[in-house]
Amino acid sequence: MADARIARLIEIERMGSEARLLTFAMAGGDLGFTGGQYVIVNTGIELSPGKLAKRAYSILSGDDLQNQFQIAVRRIGDGPGSNFMHRLAVGAELVFSGPWGKFFPNGAPAGLRLVFATDTGITAALGLLCGRQIRESPADTTAIWFVESDEYFIPAAFARDSLRAGLAAFEVAIAPPAGAPDRLERALALLNRSLESRRPSSAFLAGDGAIIYPLRERLAGAGVPMENIRLEAFFNNPERKARL
Ligand SMILES: Cc1cc2nc3c(=O)[nH]c(=O)nc-3n(C[C@H](O)[C@H](O)[C@H](O)COP(=O)(O)OP(=O)(O)OC[C@H]3O[C@@H](n4cnc5c(N)ncnc54)[C@H](O)[C@@H]3O)c2cc1C
Repeated sequence: MADARIARLIEIERMGSEARLLTFAMAGGDLGFTGGQYVIVNTGIELSPGKLAKRAYSILSGDDLQNQFQIAVRRIGDGPGSNFMHRLAVGAELVFSGPWGKFFPNGAPAGLRLVFATDTGITAALGLLCGRQIRESPADTTAIWFVESDEYFIPAAFARDSLRAGLAAFEVAIAPPAGAPDRLERALALLNRSLESRRPSSAFLAGDGAIIYPLRERLAGAGVPMENIRLEAFFNNPERKARL
């Protein structure tokens, strides 16, 4: 079992009606994360006898600061994890494990990169884009955020301001809601348009699994090697369903 780690909530910023940005300070030592990684929060809420609600949250702050980190959480209905994160007050302790994940360029070739995030997946994208490895050559990177509206999660202006690095482009495109019939078609059209001007040598796709897995197929069809395409599915993860 992964070691439990502790951080203390030191600042809360409300972002629109459903999102909050939380800043945590590590209780001892540095977090030791790479931009694009996530932590798994133990809410302590028992879902069924012996089964605690544990939820993953990507770190959206840059990895140059390791004794503090930021998480942005969208409330999802009455879901236990997101509502737990929305109830936390300044001074509260967060029990978590991590950092986890491979959503960063290690091993991926240098060259043009595409980052495509849907919905809340922008947190993993921002963590990656604010990370040391992308900051070394930001002009090689194009980013697209496919999101319902400016009220859905963190505002687009906040995302843009977080990007200290001078990316080649950061586009915010309006998405139909999750599950809408034309959503995938619209995402593919965006990707096709991007491929017309730049064919990346690596890609990083985060958010809705129902979108990012087909985007990976399209990228592979355009000649981007599968092993250079990293995925981080926040929901609708087909691999998770397959394991059930
Ligand atoms: C690697 C990883 C990183 C993540 N990072 C973040 C993050 O930075 N910020 C954040 O807010 N969430 C993030 N999530 C999602 C988060 O882990 C929870 O799934 C989410 O907070 C809902 O949990 P819940 O317990 O409130 O609801 P649950 O009862 O667990 O979820 C209800 C349903 O909503 C789905 N769902 C989860 N997120 C969304 C969404 N955005 N849109 C539509 N349906 C959704 C779930 O898959 C589930 O089917 C991440 C997930 C993963 C796997």
